[in-house]
Amino acid sequence: MIENAMLLANLWLNVWFQVAVICCAAIAALIMYKRKVNSLTDTIRDLDRRLVERAVLLQYAKENEKKAKDEALIKQSEYTTLLTQLSHDMRTPMNSVLGLTTLMKSTPLTNEQQDYLQSIKKSSEDLIDALDETLRTAGITHAEEKQQAPKKQQVTYTGKLSPEFAEHFPLKILIAEDDDMNSQLALMLLKRLGYEADYAGNGKEVLEIVSEKKYDLILMDVQMPEMDGLEATRMIRLCLNEQPVIIAMTANAMDGDRDACLKAGMDDYLSKPVNVEELMQALETWSRRSLTS
Ligand code: MN
Repeated sequence: MIENAMLLANLWLNVWFQVAVICCAAIAALIMYKRKVNSLTDTIRDLDRRLVERAVLLQYAKENEKKAKDEALIKQSEYTTLLTQLSHDMRTPMNSVLGLTTLMKSTPLTNEQQDYLQSIKKSSEDLIDALDETLRTAGITHAEEKQQAPKKQQVTYTGKLSPEFAEHFPLKILIAEDDDMNSQLALMLLKRLGYEADYAGNGKEVLEIVSEKKYDLILMDVQMPEMDGLEATRMIRLCLNEQPVIIAMTANAMDGDRDACLKAGMDDYLSKPVNVEELMQALETWSRRSLTS
């Protein structure tokens, strides 16, 4: 034992041995350092790779989100279009139902028949209310008729369907309406008020008729084949020397439709189903205006 210790002590005193030991230690340290660097490099590469993976996943998620949003917008737009079309298609026949109900109520009827008619009227109005509520829930609002411009004057003949009406408020009236039931109803209503109105089935016919005969007032539907009511109005405003009053009478009853009619050059707006009293108010107002102007 003592001999071995002595040998080691002698070796340690030997300079070359010391150099060799230091070199070995340096090489060992270098190897460890290298390993550490390699390990860190691997870690950094791994982090880089994961970072790229995350970035790709994030991009993918963003693209999916955008795609989902676009699809939702398209679906919302399709839904709005469908509801607006449904609203138009329901208002057109309901205009006839409610108008004919009003006409019938003014004929001689038994109390029982009056009750039946009242029920028909109430059910029809409930149906339109339900439609409006569905549209409101979907974020589509009804055209704001209360903002009708110009402001209506005080009216005198509310609700009375009598031929005297036309004597007080004389007007030459043209009805532009492509729906047969609605045009018949308008003709019958105006006849009950004492007017002999003319009729056109689309915008082109309107232009032909007004080029040959002068009218004080046109009740203009908007959706018509060949030429719609907006285009016909623009043409009339451009081409006629003596301008008629043009009142929209349309099943396009949503927010923006009224403005579209006024922008095309119409003077007033009534949405279907048309309230007979509102129609009479409009006729009285515009007749007074044309008499005073
Ligand atoms: Mn129409």
